[in-house]
Amino acid sequence: MGSRQTVEIRVRGTVQGVGFRPTVWRLACDEGLVGEVFNDGFGVLIRTTGNSGAISQFLSRLHTEAPPLSAIENVETQVLNLLDFEDFRIAESVSGENCTRVTPDAAICEPCRAEVLDPKERRYGYPFANCTHCGPRFSIVKEVPYDRVNTTMADFPMCASCNSEYLQPADRRFHAQPIACPTCGPSIWLEGIETSATSAYPPTTTPLDSAIELLKNGRVVAIRGLGGFHLACDATNPEAVQRLRQRKHRYGKPFALMARDLDTIRRYCNLTRAEADLLQSSEAPIVLLSADGAEKLPEGIAPGLNTVGFMLPYTPLHLLITRQMDRPLVMTSGNISDEPQVTSLDSARTGLLGIADAMLMHNREIANRIDDSVVRIVVGRPSVIRRARGYAPSAVPLPPGFAGAPDLLAFGGELKATFCVVKDEAAILSQHQGDLEDVSTFEDYQKNLQLYSRIYDHRPRLLVADMHPEYLSTKLAKERAAVDNLPLLEVQHHHAHIASCMAENGVALDAPPVLGIAIDGLGFGDDGTIWGGEFLLADYSGYRRIATFKPVAMVGGVQAIREPWRNTYAHLVAGLGWSQFVEKFSALELYRYLIKKPLPTIDRMLATGLNVPLASSCGRLFDAVAAALGLCADKALFEGQGAMELEALAESWRPSAAESPYPFTITEQATSGLLYLESSPMWQALFEDLERQAPVAKMAARFHHGLAWALRDMVARIRATTAACASTNTIALSGGCFQNKHLLEELVRLLEADGLSYLMHAKVPTNDGGLALGQAAIAAARHIEGSNPVDLLSSTSTTM
Ligand SMILES: [Zn+2]
Ligand SMILES: [Zn+2]
Repeated sequence: MGSRQTVEIRVRGTVQGVGFRPTVWRLACDEGLVGEVFNDGFGVLIRTTGNSGAISQFLSRLHTEAPPLSAIENVETQVLNLLDFEDFRIAESVSGENCTRVTPDAAICEPCRAEVLDPKERRYGYPFANCTHCGPRFSIVKEVPYDRVNTTMADFPMCASCNSEYLQPADRRFHAQPIACPTCGPSIWLEGIETSATSAYPPTTTPLDSAIELLKNGRVVAIRGLGGFHLACDATNPEAVQRLRQRKHRYGKPFALMARDLDTIRRYCNLTRAEADLLQSSEAPIVLLSADGAEKLPEGIAPGLNTVGFMLPYTPLHLLITRQMDRPLVMTSGNISDEPQVTSLDSARTGLLGIADAMLMHNREIANRIDDSVVRIVVGRPSVIRRARGYAPSAVPLPPGFAGAPDLLAFGGELKATFCVVKDEAAILSQHQGDLEDVSTFEDYQKNLQLYSRIYDHRPRLLVADMHPEYLSTKLAKERAAVDNLPLLEVQHHHAHIASCMAENGVALDAPPVLGIAIDGLGFGDDGTIWGGEFLLADYSGYRRIATFKPVAMVGGVQAIREPWRNTYAHLVAGLGWSQFVEKFSALELYRYLIKKPLPTIDRMLATGLNVPLASSCGRLFDAVAAALGLCADKALFEGQGAMELEALAESWRPSAAESPYPFTITEQATSGLLYLESSPMWQALFEDLERQAPVAKMAARFHHGLAWALRDMVARIRATTAACASTNTIALSGGCFQNKHLLEELVRLLEADGLSYLMHAKVPTNDGGLALGQAAIAAARHIEGSNPVDLLSSTSTTM
């Protein structure tokens, strides 16, 4: 059995507020140990006395039986002088609880689910049941430490029954801060049904039943959820779906759906095992699925796409609503157009008026707005596209070598914005904020910066922002740097993308540089032009631009994003030349379409260089090809709409593997040595396909194939001809265009065939939502003493 000894066990990671101490208590008692456990500034500390066999048994069970929401990062043990304890107890927390580990909200757990559905339980039918293993966390936190008084549950004093559960270490609700029951907790009610509507429906007994009745009758109901309001309607009712689109002014973007169980989802989508697991995970995100099931949803759910986003009910309230619905519900964020999701009762009453026929309200305030996360299975594993509920604000561990990183704040980008707090060597990436060009989103972003600063008690020594002079986040960072007299580092957009991918994948600070492919819509280049299709030799400290997509004019600047035909024309002029196009392809519908546009004006702009910035953008190439094939040619309702529809078409082309890829070429710039990826041969082949009236889906497939091959060929060329890259076997893939599953999976297959290894995003978005992490890693790397930027690489500019 071994000798009797006392050890001190230090556990680091996500171990506070997740039921860790009661698990320790239970295991210690099981193993006949005495001692104590408490929270402190570093995590959980255990001091225990017993025989060495029991202690090692205890340690191994600590790993295998850790509570579901915990994440142990490391355990250190140290033998102390023998201490005597009477029993094993949970001691008071020592001051300075670790505040860099605020837990994300978690979907309802199985035991809570069973209770809510069991008429014998006191929480039967209760919409706010939760326990240490599930329920609200970040969405209700106002201050640290995470105690009930610092959450929006402070308004609800516990009843005697809840209090005894709260105090009982053996109970699933021991120290569950949001603990609640029908006697003491929050409640729901229904607002806003007009008298006529009420009389039109049989009077029902509860707000829940009334809301369900309205939904079944094709009405739109606003539902206050966990991190904000949703707008819900019957997803199988085309009129209801259309009505919701019109009222919400949301015309192009797909609607997310919620269904009561996997079987209901399987009617519309053939689920893989990985997709089913993800749907049922405690993060419970919206999972993007192929709409390939036996039953079809109305076109209005996801116009032009062959994917649909489904999630399962993740709160008791959602469970109680959906279990009475044998069909999916639209569950789209409760907002108008691109504004942030509404969270408060008052803003719902004003903001959602006229959209919803009724509002299902509750009185647990939402401290932190948090949208539903969106995840897709790519290359067989989850890839987060929108990182919010369930994922944020869990810390992203910084890679080896980043010990000593200064406390800093990275402001992120402009679209799909997030920011990143680095504190105590942990990187905390904020939840998805939205597009800052929307005024109310930008206000919300500023509010959340303050909120994080308070929650994490964060005093940055250094600020980081994108290099783009017009990004609102950059302007804000500059103001803040001036006011607080802090140094500001401005980071190149695509370098930040690659650094984000490296950091997420744990690439060590002193690792050799990687070859990064960053493809996206737009980012500000260090030469003052717009970039968006970049091949960078990069480490954390710096980068060297080796190759790029050949720059093409963006006719009318941002107008080219809204009117994709402008990109088709610009690409055509740059690649083939208009006269050659007319000579060869004037029989095409595309020709007749383009000559109706104000081409002389555009030619003048191109000649004078006025408002036609050059962009090496992969996103604009997608726009140009989509518009040439008649997708969103006149108008894109949101950035990337054409690209998404193009991907859907490519995916639908069954014999795709046999299709020959469209050709691209690589040229070298005489003066700079910079390599250009040129698309002119691709256009030639595409126009010939148009002439043959080839199926559009086939052309979309050939384009995707062609682009994947072009990226692969460029990698091969770079490794063969650029001495600094010859031994670089790791290719980091980042940027919004890699949200395209079809492209990414094809490229990964090609790189593997070449014997290269690749890094891609999983838990951090590949789009601009991941930018802030990269900014943070770059800034930290450059400020850690002793790190020497590789001489080969040019550095990002610094204003100090
Ligand atoms: Zn639970
Ligand atoms: Zn109670």
